Amino acid sequence: MMQVYAVFGDPVEHSLSPAMQNAAFSALGLSARYLAFRVRRERLRDGILGAEAMHFGGLNLTIPHKEAALSIVEPDENAAAMGAVNAVAFRDGSILGYNTDGLGAVRALEGAGVRITGRRVLVIGAGGAGKAIARQLAISGAEVSIANRDRSRAVDLAAAVGGRGYGLSDIAELVPEAEVVVNATSVGMRAGDPRLFDGRLLQEGQTVFDIVYNRETELLKDAARAGSVAIDGVPMLVWQGALSIEIWTGRKAPVEVMEEAVREELRNR
Ligand code: NAP
Repeated sequence: MMQVYAVFGDPVEHSLSPAMQNAAFSALGLSARYLAFRVRRERLRDGILGAEAMHFGGLNLTIPHKEAALSIVEPDENAAAMGAVNAVAFRDGSILGYNTDGLGAVRALEGAGVRITGRRVLVIGAGGAGKAIARQLAISGAEVSIANRDRSRAVDLAAAVGGRGYGLSDIAELVPEAEVVVNATSVGMRAGDPRLFDGRLLQEGQTVFDIVYNRETELLKDAARAGSVAIDGVPMLVWQGALSIEIWTGRKAPVEVMEEAVREELRNR
């Protein structure tokens, strides 16, 4: 019987996950279909329980559901510590929650040849993605600084992962000191978004990782101009999806096929 998988979000119509995950299932030769469902915030519990009742293979969750899901599923230690769930698996009557965003980001960096252990990493953003990434980078041995518009969120996150927290006003001093700069805010998603900092602060030898994946951001253009290594958000999107497939099926996901499917979908938009 065909296995159904889904992403729940609101809005969700622009999700790249169906194209990416269906390409993966097809490359793996699995009889499976991945769909996007718009699930309203207040119906998330109904949605998850409904998916379990209908024997879905698994779920991904995106905005605005990642944090609310914590009280609906049984989160593993990692998802509980990150305060967010982006992958759900159904096993023997249990509804299990995972977070693959942080490890997805680390795999994206490693895939681009970036060593993480012992490196000075500046994470800009302390929202859902910033939390997951900062925690995973700290676990991987990075020296993590966090800067966020709401400084208190950066300070709280830094205390939780053993790093330092700052406001955005400190960024001009932080960027030149960092070996790796990560944009984990939503700034750059829309054309015309203001820059988080003056691109001239970037230098050759630094790595700039912008997790925004829907367009080439000004930050990535600045990084290329400075001669820094520039990594966009697509590899992280691919890896968080690949790790979800591995949780659901136990199979190694075809990351190259998935990345090609995402880039093709972006080219056609
Ligand atoms: P979120 O929980 O809503 O957090 C948003 C973050 O952006 C917060 O740190 C917020 O700062 C900051 N921010 C928003 N507007 C800002 C502005 N004008 N100036 C400065 N900072 C601003 O969202 P999220 O789930 O972390 O997602 C953040 C971004 O990452 C989105 O673009 C999302 O698409 C992307 N993302 C990519 C992947 C991937 O796989 N590549 C995975 C997850 C998310 P405050 O705390 O001060 O509000």
